[in-house]
Amino acid sequence: MKVLLVFFYTPNQEYTSLARGLTAAHLLNETTEVAIIGHSCDPALKEIAQYDRISKVHVLDHLSLAHHLAEPCTEVMQPMVTQYSHILFVGNTTSKNVMPRLAAVCDISPISDVIGIENENQFKRPIYAGNIIETVGSSQPHKLISIRESMFAPMEKSAVQTPEIIHAELTLESPLVQFESELMTQQDRPDLSSAQTVVSGGGGLGSQENFSMVYALADCLGAGVGASRAAVDAGYISNDFQIGQTGKIVAPNVYIAIGISGAIQHMAGMKDSRVIIVINQDEDAPIMQQCDYGLVGDLFTAVPAMIEHFSEL
Ligand code: FAD
Repeated sequence: MKVLLVFFYTPNQEYTSLARGLTAAHLLNETTEVAIIGHSCDPALKEIAQYDRISKVHVLDHLSLAHHLAEPCTEVMQPMVTQYSHILFVGNTTSKNVMPRLAAVCDISPISDVIGIENENQFKRPIYAGNIIETVGSSQPHKLISIRESMFAPMEKSAVQTPEIIHAELTLESPLVQFESELMTQQDRPDLSSAQTVVSGGGGLGSQENFSMVYALADCLGAGVGASRAAVDAGYISNDFQIGQTGKIVAPNVYIAIGISGAIQHMAGMKDSRVIIVINQDEDAPIMQQCDYGLVGDLFTAVPAMIEHFSEL
């Protein structure tokens, strides 16, 4: 068995997904290899050097790879695929773009959104918005797998062995696609995918103005901000913050849901949170059945009281 973890490098990024990917890779094999894809990847090499049980690091460093477009990433990865029994991606928007293309050109059926590794050929993944967990068996000699990172604890740092570093010599064909520009959302709050606490607002807030309570509570707690689709559709917040089946999947230590009913599509994005706290005036709201702590009451009374309390701490 030979395992390769693919890591897309972006400057100034957090490395939690790398640490979680390594945990998944080591469930398959004692050691793993890592492929770093991007441009000017030296900071990632320094980070990787802090982890044990990595035998080789392949550095796929090229200006055309800086933005992780699916076409050049596939071109550089395709020759590597047959060298490995398992190629692991951490599930995110980049791997959702790259892995299917790589799978298609290599004629492999990819296995996406894996939440558990039973053995080298069997993987668990959610279907029907997380209502059913299926076990997928695959006898393909080369498996392309993406993992749901929130389901794998980050590997602890403990460098003992220094991995062999291999700088690939890349000659990329003239590009089919080319990066033009990007517009990044700037925010001071923790990123949703890595936040330890998430405060989420739903349709119960009633207006964009009222939604500012969610930001205020999140700021007191140093938390990330999320939302249900009802809040997004009503224009209280942009859809970058939607949590659920068609939004982001989070599993923070604490998830606080304010004025959210708990439709299955929303629960699919947050039910793996360690502690779920709910504020809802309807004691029969579905989310009340799923939470650890439920406050039945008016959010317009409860949330300002919480903000006042936490801002005094
Ligand atoms: P509502 O259903 O309007 O619920 C509001 C809640 O607030 C109620 O429980 C109410 O009791 C409570 N409330 C109201 N006023 C107060 C008050 N003053 N104090 C306290 N509580 C109050 N939804 C998602 O969230 N994420 C997704 O990714 C997603 N994907 C979807 C994909 C598909 C294909 C489909 C069909 C739907 C999807 N949805 C998704 C929508 C989902 O079905 C629900 O419509 C949505 O989650 C409802 O959001 P909500 O609970 O915030 O709003």
